[in-house]
Amino acid sequence: MFTLAYPSTPEEAVDRLARAAPGETAVLGGGTDLLLDVESGRTTPTELLSLRKLPWRYLRWERQSLVVGSTLPLRALEVDPKVRTQLPGLWEAIVDVGSPALRSRATLGGNIGRCSPVSDLLPILLALDAQVRIVGPNGRREVPVDAILQESRRTTLGSADLVEAVVVPAAAPCTYLWQRVQPVNDISQVGVATAYAPTPPHWRIAVGGIQPRARRLVEAEGLLRSARPSDFEAELAAQEAARRSTFVTDRRATESYRRRLVSVLVRRAIQRTLARVPPVAGGPSSSP
Ligand SMILES: Cc1cc2nc3c(=O)[nH]c(=O)nc-3n(C[C@H](O)[C@H](O)[C@H](O)COP(=O)(O)OP(=O)(O)OC[C@H]3O[C@@H](n4cnc5c(N)ncnc54)[C@H](O)[C@@H]3O)c2cc1C
Repeated sequence: MFTLAYPSTPEEAVDRLARAAPGETAVLGGGTDLLLDVESGRTTPTELLSLRKLPWRYLRWERQSLVVGSTLPLRALEVDPKVRTQLPGLWEAIVDVGSPALRSRATLGGNIGRCSPVSDLLPILLALDAQVRIVGPNGRREVPVDAILQESRRTTLGSADLVEAVVVPAAAPCTYLWQRVQPVNDISQVGVATAYAPTPPHWRIAVGGIQPRARRLVEAEGLLRSARPSDFEAELAAQEAARRSTFVTDRRATESYRRRLVSVLVRRAIQRTLARVPPVAGGPSSSP
């Protein structure tokens, strides 16, 4: 049994969390992950702290970035035409999460808080170098998403920290590709995100479906030295990505199948992102 609390300000929510005993209070975003854990007894809070009344259900553009309030349902991002055109990789990651009903509840804050190794959103947030705005007992701070993720259900967020918003740089052409057993209401076996950041010129590659968490593959990125890598360079980077990733065999896929998927999807994602890089991006010239 648990009670539900609805704080109306971030400060009230943080204060409540700071005063709670360990494990007593759980933060409730859309509940698509947390309520399953409560139902199965994996977690046994006596209080659920709903974020529903906090003013964090927004989407706005600040200079070259998209700022997403942490409690905005994914569906709002999916139907926003500017998100689709400016951040096609983010849109591709969102549009196939679960089902339309699930996306009407699930949030970015909850996806980060859950830190699932098979999350579809974490690879693209990593590839775009998204920043996370956090509010906690010591006030507000902004950290890269990479600094928050640890392993499944574990982040570096403090027990009274809340994700307030996610800032996604929008100047980088990007792509997200996944492979699943079933296209709808299933979890990805592997997901790959690529982005080309023009200033300073840099390719980023991030992979999900590996252990213990989604992560950037900087060794593979290092093989993409120009704005317009050749097919050969893309293939080399893809092979390096597969070589550097750690996979498990589970009911969704074997280790060797996942490794093969990473190599195929990384190559395709680089090529798709390349097709999205404007010809006059100002990056280094094409490789021969
Ligand atoms: C049938 C099904 C299909 C799914 N398919 C996919 C899929 O295709 N791709 C995918 O990536 N995920 C998928 N998921 C997982 C899930 O929907 C996502 O992880 C979702 O984004 C979680 O958001 P939420 O708001 O529901 O989180 P919640 O369940 O509310 O919370 C999840 C965790 O984050 C914490 N939390 C929530 N909000 C915050 C916050 N603002 N600050 C700090 N901590 C917070 C909670 O305390 C909890 O620990 C699926 C889940 C189900 C049940």
